Amino acid sequence: MIQSASRPLFRLSRHSTIPAGGRDSLQHTMAKDWAVRAEGVVAPHHMKPASCEATTSDVESMSSISDGQIFQAVKEGNIKKCQQVLEAETCAVLECYDEKGHTPVHWAALTGSIELIELFVDCKGPVDRPSQAELGQRPIHWAAVNGSIAVVDILLKAGVSLDVEDQKGCTPLITAAQYGQTALCCYLIGKGAKINLCDSEGDNALHWAAFKGHCELAHLLIYSGCNPQQTDNFGQTPLHLAVLSGNLPTVQLLCEQDTVDLECEDNNRNTPLKLAYGRKSRDIASFLQSTIVQAKKRHVSQFNWSTWLFGRPGKSKGPILFFYGNLFLWGYPTYFFKIVPVSYYALWELHIMFLLCNALMWAFFLKASHMDPGFLPQDTEEYKYAVKQAVNCNDWKDGKNPLNRLCHTCHLVKPLRSKHCRITNRCVSHFDHYCPYIYNDVGKQNRAFFVGFLTTMCMCCFIGVYLCWDCFYIVGSGILIGMGFVFLSIIGTISALMTVMCLYMAVVNITTNERINVKKYPYLKNDKGQFRNPFDRGFYLNFLEFLDIVVPLSEDNIQKKDLRIDI
Ligand SMILES: [Zn+2]
Repeated sequence: MIQSASRPLFRLSRHSTIPAGGRDSLQHTMAKDWAVRAEGVVAPHHMKPASCEATTSDVESMSSISDGQIFQAVKEGNIKKCQQVLEAETCAVLECYDEKGHTPVHWAALTGSIELIELFVDCKGPVDRPSQAELGQRPIHWAAVNGSIAVVDILLKAGVSLDVEDQKGCTPLITAAQYGQTALCCYLIGKGAKINLCDSEGDNALHWAAFKGHCELAHLLIYSGCNPQQTDNFGQTPLHLAVLSGNLPTVQLLCEQDTVDLECEDNNRNTPLKLAYGRKSRDIASFLQSTIVQAKKRHVSQFNWSTWLFGRPGKSKGPILFFYGNLFLWGYPTYFFKIVPVSYYALWELHIMFLLCNALMWAFFLKASHMDPGFLPQDTEEYKYAVKQAVNCNDWKDGKNPLNRLCHTCHLVKPLRSKHCRITNRCVSHFDHYCPYIYNDVGKQNRAFFVGFLTTMCMCCFIGVYLCWDCFYIVGSGILIGMGFVFLSIIGTISALMTVMCLYMAVVNITTNERINVKKYPYLKNDKGQFRNPFDRGFYLNFLEFLDIVVPLSEDNIQKKDLRIDI
């Protein structure tokens, strides 16, 4: 049993000082904190879950104070009312505190209201007063919680210090890292925030990103120069904390760093592997174990039979082995030894077609599985330039966020319709989905082969079903024939449905990813928020584009169609 409970890991009581205010992300993060602690691995003894519940009542408390007109107005986001209060009571009203010890500017920063913050800055009121609550956080810390870059930008221009610390030593960068606000972190780093500053427990932004399992943010911080081997006051490195988070991609990222000691012990003599066992994270433990073994044997051999055969943790070869196994262990033997002798002469045309479809299916499978699905080039100059320029971008105030287009893992600017795949850990052009049956992503370059694979598999299955039925009729019952009939019927139906779905999406020019995450992509909505597809060029051209015969429309072309593309 791992005794990490003795470590008062993090001051998560901060959440009691920052009300949720209806923000889903914040509530989600809080829920995650408590979930982690509930498992007993991280159980700071000074925390009580009740403090978490205080958050909703905090919002209501603003209205309960008699002279809290300004708080009420800020809560409602009522700019006019705020202006009236400011005119009546002057900017001195910004110096008052509510009963929890926060100023109106704190609340405005938390809501992310640019107009309110601009109003407070314009009236020359104090916008950097620390809260009177335990942590003494400033409005910029609260803005960092919700990742409000525009608000942080205004506060910095109003003279707030970039690395201002609360009473526990947290800078805005550390706070943003705690809440996984990658774009804001990128902005703050671009502005010159000191990335190696630590809070009072020795944790820097990378420790927090690792502990919360924010893999992409961890990428950005390492890229920006954070030391991945730095220990905190408890002797824990970001790798220890990533293991505690249970997030395999973050653990993998940290293990890839040459300077990281995989068997480093913390003050309780826990190595990352011991913590993984303590948390019962089987994937992480098996990954760490094989990585440690590989690192020790590196000078002898880099080849790992187990990984080669079963795939690495997080990218299991289970489905593909199931597919191969069924076909080769009993599927083909049954066909050649049980079915062919019975019906080859009577149904030779069908047998030829079956064999032909099989040959085509394997050809499509090998192509779709082994070819580059459309991986985008990594470490681009465009990315480096974009990171540098991001701090000067005026788009923040229009609600757009240019940093959302950056992939901090691949170090590139993501083109429209591309997506970073968590399993292959690469950005893919026209990302459709990751298919465990071909053990590859489906993207711009291999999607036609993937549909070819599905179509031929579907044909094989239905011909196979007919042949099984015929054999069953002539020879009578048999376990292998029966199994073949059921197995092929199920696979055939599933692959037929998938084929129809893929062909439909091909002719209307949309990817599976876009169809599933339609709400995430503003470019798929019109001004009224209804679905619209800017890529649709008519069935014929769409299908040619799908087959990679016609070049897709460029972003410029799409914008020329006078469509609003906010990325
Ligand atoms: Zn990427």
